[in-house]
Amino acid sequence: MSDPVSLTSMVARARGATAAEARACAVTPRKVFVHTFGCQMNDADSARMVELLGRYAFSVTPHPEDADLILLNTCAVREKAEQKLLSALGRYREHKARRGALLAVGGCVAQQEKDRLLARVPYLDFVFGPDNIAKLPEMIERARRERFAETGWMASEEYLFPRADPQAARGRATAFVTAMKGCDNVCSFCIVPYTRGREISRPFTEIEEECAALAEVGVREVTLIGQNVNSYAGGCDFPTLLRRVAALPMLARVRFTTSHPHDLSDALVETFRHEPRVMPHFHLPVQSGSDPVLLRMRRDYTVEEYMGRFEKLRAARPGMAITTDFIVGFPGETDEDFERSLQLLERARFDNSFSFVYSPRPHTGAARRLGSAPEWSEIPRAVSIARLERLQTTQRRISSEAMARELHKTVEVLVEGALDGEERRRFGRTPENRVVHLDADEAQAPAGVRLAVRVTRAHANSLSGEIVGPA
Ligand code: SF4
Repeated sequence: MSDPVSLTSMVARARGATAAEARACAVTPRKVFVHTFGCQMNDADSARMVELLGRYAFSVTPHPEDADLILLNTCAVREKAEQKLLSALGRYREHKARRGALLAVGGCVAQQEKDRLLARVPYLDFVFGPDNIAKLPEMIERARRERFAETGWMASEEYLFPRADPQAARGRATAFVTAMKGCDNVCSFCIVPYTRGREISRPFTEIEEECAALAEVGVREVTLIGQNVNSYAGGCDFPTLLRRVAALPMLARVRFTTSHPHDLSDALVETFRHEPRVMPHFHLPVQSGSDPVLLRMRRDYTVEEYMGRFEKLRAARPGMAITTDFIVGFPGETDEDFERSLQLLERARFDNSFSFVYSPRPHTGAARRLGSAPEWSEIPRAVSIARLERLQTTQRRISSEAMARELHKTVEVLVEGALDGEERRRFGRTPENRVVHLDADEAQAPAGVRLAVRVTRAHANSLSGEIVGPA
């Protein structure tokens, strides 16, 4: 009879692990708890970690107190996210002490802080950067012997994109598919090029295969993701990739995020005009409505250039939802600069925006120049907060008006699942990415089905509707 060690090793082999990997993780079944901070790239990375560990007899637990391994996948885009990490680590320390769980930090803060994080958090077992996810099984074994930081970069020719396990997506209507990673831009506020490295695009054939495999198990909508996804160059350009994925049988919808305005080509605009399966929603971060601020941000466009692309998009696909990001309180931002951001918001009438107070990040151009000249002066926090509140109040009004315009329309909704675990409440999204709540059970609105829904109520961030029939 096999002992638990070799049995688990055999299970790992059977699930596709190599012999060396299986040996590295040959232990009794264990549980992993994953806490993800930040963006969709991190959500996708966490999903790949869970799938990888699943091949080594790890199952996911939603309870950190039951876990043998607690993984925190972190975000370094704002200082607040780092503070959240440190307070979460403080909470998990207790579970580690009680159960002897391993505690590990991955993602962008890990890449930024490297072994400094180990020195700062003495009960942390190991730290690993985004390029090292594939080594997790070996790192778990190594953590039995020593504390370490594994934050090296992989050369672009060696880089292997973690592949989604289609079986893990069975029963789901939507999935993220990684198209590229890293960023070659140098926006002066952004730490991403430092924590995620240079751009590497995944070969388009791999992306097509992964999307086709997801469609086979019932996924109907894929979102292609990357830090700067529209600069994709994995054997074809981004508009061609979108068209190839949209042409796959059984996939009904394709989305992508996130984009830099200077990579929004005319060919991409034309893709929106001619390919109905590319959904009419574009997240196009503008960051500021003032040209001098955009110049200091090194965004490589003016407000008028941005609006030129914006208008082309809306003309190519009338009714398209366009969302954006704003940073307020960027160094040297005057009252006049900020008023221009408000004016841009009123002019573009973005369907929604994500807005934040600037926070200086290590290794970035703006942080280095902060306070070095009048145009790089630090904005008092109270001023930044007051500006943020004004911007967000204006956005809430514009978003509510956009939602109210949907009232009484019949819209297509792709059902995603139960709303907050309630049996008789379901939710899905329109092509424009608006969330719609339905009073229906699973039999009436199963995940993956597209329904025609009449909008009966408009809320600030969502709609409610009644089913009219199949879409
Ligand atoms: S485009 Fe700019 S903001 Fe976006 S990830 Fe790259 S450096 Fe950061």
